[in-house]
Amino acid sequence: MNKSQLHAIMVFVAIIVIISISACKENSENPVKGKVICLDPGHGGTAETDSFRIGPTGEREEWINLRVALILAEMLEDKGAEVVMTRTDDMPVDLSTRAEMAVSSQSDIFISIHHNGTADPGVNFPIIYYHGNASENLAGIQIAKILAKNLQESFYAYDVPASLISDFVIFPFGGTRILRESYGIPGIIGEASFFTNAEEEQRLKEEQYNRKEAQAYFKAINEYFSQEAKRVLPKFSKIKLLPFEAFQEEERMDSIALLWHDDFERAALLVKSDKHDSLLLAEQLLIRSLRSFPDSWIAGEAHLKRSEVLRKLGRIEEADSALLRAKEHYILIDNLSQER
Ligand SMILES: [Zn+2]
Repeated sequence: MNKSQLHAIMVFVAIIVIISISACKENSENPVKGKVICLDPGHGGTAETDSFRIGPTGEREEWINLRVALILAEMLEDKGAEVVMTRTDDMPVDLSTRAEMAVSSQSDIFISIHHNGTADPGVNFPIIYYHGNASENLAGIQIAKILAKNLQESFYAYDVPASLISDFVIFPFGGTRILRESYGIPGIIGEASFFTNAEEEQRLKEEQYNRKEAQAYFKAINEYFSQEAKRVLPKFSKIKLLPFEAFQEEERMDSIALLWHDDFERAALLVKSDKHDSLLLAEQLLIRSLRSFPDSWIAGEAHLKRSEVLRKLGRIEEADSALLRAKEHYILIDNLSQER
């Protein structure tokens, strides 16, 4: 090899090194580039038929979901992500079609954007649902934790608890259709806040506030793609729990459901007792609290307390299963804050 050949090879190697360094830098600075991201604004086109998903002054959940998703889509596309939207208008799209869009586009992540409603108008905090069991849906838990942290830190102006919960908690016989039929793609349903809270409903009407929420999702999605992705193991490959039935949507809006926190507090005192009758009452109150508001931030703890009560009552098998349910269907907030 002569001198000029050697020189040419050295220049070639240098160019390759520079190209790969800049590609690497681009990737770490812009982790969503080239990713296929499926955004699903929940519901749509139900103004004539649905009087449940609506705030005190008439703002509809489906409208808020769409506004946030459209802003988020623009943010992601600006960074070179390929965004698949399950709807871009106020129109109905059935759940299977939405899941199919995520699957057929081979999306890298699936984010279903919702807002929540409940009987208690004072309640406002984020809930994030993953599908199935925590020990199997590792990627779902990964996204849920990152999103909860970002919503807590940059969407809420005050300290707020968050619920990270399996969708089997609200639909005990199979979870949500949308996450079930897209299972395998790392995905979650995000419910950033409650439109049944009057002050929150007013904020949610504002474009700037929708943008703040979209920004929290944007940061979370970027953070997720900067980390090493965890896996989604086959459902029920490790564990299968029996259903624990919650009240369904309309029942959760009635007056008994309003006692969810009082029931928990009363039970928490009774759990300390050794009297048989007190323990039985504690169990009843915990069950009622869990059925009234199965996805509250104290629900995981309520299952733990129920396990304690059942153990004291000598019902060991039921106690073990309550404990397992708390671990698989609830990521307890204490765990979350310890990791931060
Ligand atoms: Zn919804």
